[in-house]
Amino acid sequence: MLKLANLLNKPPKPIDPSCGITLERHVAVIEPEHCIGCTLCIKACPVDAIVGSSKRRHAVIAELCTGCELCIPPCPVDCIDMLLMPAHANWTTEQAHAARARMHRRSERLVRQKSEQSARLESKAIQKLDGLSESMDPDAAKKKAIIEAALARARARRQQGNSTESKP
Ligand code: SF4
Ligand code: SF4
Repeated sequence: MLKLANLLNKPPKPIDPSCGITLERHVAVIEPEHCIGCTLCIKACPVDAIVGSSKRRHAVIAELCTGCELCIPPCPVDCIDMLLMPAHANWTTEQAHAARARMHRRSERLVRQKSEQSARLESKAIQKLDGLSESMDPDAAKKKAIIEAALARARARRQQGNSTESKP
């Protein structure tokens, strides 16, 4: 707040509580004995601060946790708590920049993974179409039409996604 006021060369104003309250730094902690390894918290964490794999206990890397609490609602067994950090462990500007960079990297990775998955599915569908062209299946024409329509929809979605991404 002070930095913003200095930047704008204006006197600082008190924080508007209707926009949220300021808390000391908290980090998420997973109770290992209750975690069922469902991976839902990993999917929710915007900065990749949770490690674990399917059906294995998960853990939070405290140094990377921003305390955003986004992992708490998806946990089906309510085994994530927020722990108050000591004052000396308060968030620094460098940590905030690093967290933002991790968030951007994660978003880019998710977009890339989605596109790779679509390409894999498309290639499978094309293989299936080739198989149907050679098959004696009496329903081949009907099945081909269904797959071709699904392929067209997938391509349209991808094109739409690409044009949204390329917008400034
Ligand atoms: S509180 Fe936020 S940053 Fe920390 S582990 Fe949960 S989702 Fe990730
Ligand atoms: S959401 Fe909860 S139960 Fe699922 S992996 Fe995370 S901590 Fe474990």
